[in-house]
Amino acid sequence: VLILAIESSCDETAAAVVKNGREVLSNVIYSQIDLHTLYGGVVPEIASRKHIEKINQVVRKALADASCTLDDITAVAVTYGPGLVGALLVGVAEAKAIAFAANKPLIGVHHIEGHISANYIENKELEPPFLCLVVSGGHSHLVRVKDYGEYEILGKTRDDAAGEAFDKVARAIGLGYPGGPKIDRVSNEGNPEAIIFPRAKIADNVYDFSFSGLKSAVLNYLNGCQMKGIDINQADVAASFQKAVVDVLVEHSMDAVKRYHVDKFAIAGGVASNSHLRAALESACSKQGVKFFRPSPILCTDNAAMIGAAGYYEYLKGVRHGWDLNAVPNLKLGERI
Ligand code: ATP
Ligand code: MG
Ligand code: FE
Repeated sequence: VLILAIESSCDETAAAVVKNGREVLSNVIYSQIDLHTLYGGVVPEIASRKHIEKINQVVRKALADASCTLDDITAVAVTYGPGLVGALLVGVAEAKAIAFAANKPLIGVHHIEGHISANYIENKELEPPFLCLVVSGGHSHLVRVKDYGEYEILGKTRDDAAGEAFDKVARAIGLGYPGGPKIDRVSNEGNPEAIIFPRAKIADNVYDFSFSGLKSAVLNYLNGCQMKGIDINQADVAASFQKAVVDVLVEHSMDAVKRYHVDKFAIAGGVASNSHLRAALESACSKQGVKFFRPSPILCTDNAAMIGAAGYYEYLKGVRHGWDLNAVPNLKLGERI
């Protein structure tokens, strides 16, 4: 089964050809990051326009890199939510047009299901059930993957997503956009114990997260330094902030691992490419005797190969969408529309 997958939910225009859900024949990603850096974040209107400009080229290259034509493709999978509505619409319209013209089935895929499924690509032996920590620009979820396409959300963020916190703190300490990779890098030169930032606990659900208090604590610290005329140590602030995020993510994850007696733990989403988080979870999992799975960094951030992996399992389940498939900006995980 060959899936042509398309992803355009945020600021990456991407297409891929994936064989049987796990073998990537091509993976083309056009990142708009440079364009949005100018504005300190993703500008939805600009993202949509750029997707329109790039999508045909990206799809054509994905087919060419995989040495196949539309005739060879079994089905077309596309991210239809969640994400920016104008951005999603470009991919959805492209996928519908291709599927209709080539007379192939159309499969709408949940973006976060895609992030989780990125784990299947490099770990051929990974099968549900397992636990997955999803940490991206817009989501922080602790998920029980019960079967392919079947999820139970154990906990989620009450306010900011982890990636959002990285991006906001990076901006505040003058690192610019996108913040995650920059904080990851400068933290290597900082002392993670230099400043003690708060680790939020949520009373009524131990698996829920909250990162806005931490973000405020960093901003207050920066204001305090400015008022006292003290120069901040960028690397120390970055490392201390990152340590607070990583500690909370690891603690919640390991609580869930113990409570649900799982033997497999995976991570997904852009923040899953954070080197400090990967190292901390690797060692925590090994202490618990749990096998740890993580996609390569390029498969953690937005890409279409992960949509091809998720789309394959949806295909096997018999999921097919009609020509009325629409973008669903707030689509819930496990929900099918
Ligand atoms: P979502 O998937 O929730 O819809 P998104 O698609 O915008 O949001 P992703 O592409 O999965 O998010 O991830 C982007 C986020 O990951 C950004 O917030 C970015 O700062 C963060 N990120 C990327 N690399 C790193 C890193 N090395 N360390 C920490 N955060 C990172
Ligand atoms: Mg992105
Ligand atoms: Fe994403």
